[in-house]
Amino acid sequence: MSESVDTLLAILGSHRPWVALTGAGISSASGIPTYRDHKGTWLGSHPIQHDEFISDRSKRQRYWSRSALGWPRVGGAQPNESHAALVKLEHAGLLTGVITQNVDRLHQRAGSKSVVDLHGRLDRVKCLDCGQVTSREAIQSWIETHNELPNTASLTLRPDGDADLPDHYVTDFKVPQCMKCRGVVMPEVVFFGGTVPGPVVNECYQMIDAAEGMLVVGSSLSVYSGLRFCRYAVDQGKPLIILNQGQTRADGLCTHKFSSAPFTLMAECADAFLIQKQEPCHG
Ligand SMILES: [Zn+2]
Repeated sequence: MSESVDTLLAILGSHRPWVALTGAGISSASGIPTYRDHKGTWLGSHPIQHDEFISDRSKRQRYWSRSALGWPRVGGAQPNESHAALVKLEHAGLLTGVITQNVDRLHQRAGSKSVVDLHGRLDRVKCLDCGQVTSREAIQSWIETHNELPNTASLTLRPDGDADLPDHYVTDFKVPQCMKCRGVVMPEVVFFGGTVPGPVVNECYQMIDAAEGMLVVGSSLSVYSGLRFCRYAVDQGKPLIILNQGQTRADGLCTHKFSSAPFTLMAECADAFLIQKQEPCHG
């Protein structure tokens, strides 16, 4: 067992239980690209803002035309070993819950029981006029029936990650609308400039209050909505552990940071705790 595993095991064992805060880094191994905005905007280098989605029809058209191409990859993604490791930690009694900044629902699909989707969920779409909720799959079917989608394999990627989509594809794109009232529909996610609903934020604070420490996994904490929870935990004197390859905005706040292959590390720790749990001490 490596020194890192021993170190993480000792820390996790000394302050149980923990609450995890996860980000895009945990889903990249599932084939979900780490979009700058993590909102499923396909290869977009210009994340859509909440206000422009609400007020500008052409921006909605741009969003949906790209989302139509990006959704199959997100909708078809499978949880990976990192999601599985967090499920194991929950089973081992080490984790009270997961606060995720991801909108892909992979924690729930992996089997985590207590999860807060801080930035919403991409698999559902809500009508801004009547509140009707529709599955993203149903919206995708509508989109595919009413539009001709280009073959994504043949598109040329620009160095900035954006794709050369034919102009007419976007301008001719038929935008989905509410199937009940024909109102404006929006994915149930928090776009840039949008606000995380108060009850969701409160649920996160309660989860942190119930934990003895916070474990950040796969997030650079570049968005304030996640960073504030780290500050909150640290203000309460709780240890903050970060598992992330690359810098984070909480590097100066954390008790310990693991940046080399953090997900393997977590899986090894989860296995070690489960073995401890299964082998009662006869001493
Ligand atoms: Zn409606």
